[in-house]
Amino acid sequence: MDMAMLREEALGIGFTLAEPMKVETIKLREEVREMCAVNKCHAYNTNWSCPPNCGTIAECQERVNRYEAGLIVETTGQLEDDFDFETMEETAKIHSAHFVEFLKKLRKEHKELEVLPLGAGECTHCQKCTFPDAPCRFPDLMSSPMEGYGMVISDVCKDNNILYNHGRGTLTYVGCYLFREVTK
Ligand code: SF4
Repeated sequence: MDMAMLREEALGIGFTLAEPMKVETIKLREEVREMCAVNKCHAYNTNWSCPPNCGTIAECQERVNRYEAGLIVETTGQLEDDFDFETMEETAKIHSAHFVEFLKKLRKEHKELEVLPLGAGECTHCQKCTFPDAPCRFPDLMSSPMEGYGMVISDVCKDNNILYNHGRGTLTYVGCYLFREVTK
């Protein structure tokens, strides 16, 4: 698998950072899922991508185990001050748009790869998720949040020597793609 090429392609989409990650460094934690259930983000059990609908920790782990390599992608915004909500929102939107754009590119141009996308938050591909009335409208484009799978983002970055905190006044959104060659 040509990770250098995938990294370049991700940077070409517009992510501010893209670095390979080792799948074996991924640890899924029940405590993170318990934090999801507190529902501070108001996304818990409101869509197909978030807990509990993305499966149990054991099911997520089983899915992750099928993959051989990963790529972490980041979008860092520079805030004017701690209350610069406009830049925070704009950075989230840019990250989310790039995340879907790269996923579409991977699906179209890398048919040799099976891809598991894990984003910075709940799947926002549709204006309104079909949950719970109908199945997911775009299963190929759906992405669960990394935290929804039980990952501690800062730990995943640290364990892969990837910078997560880019300094005072910055805000970083993180996602990742896991890959496996389908011919294997
Ligand atoms: S692709 Fe649409 S229907 Fe499927 S999880 Fe995302 S928002 Fe919901």
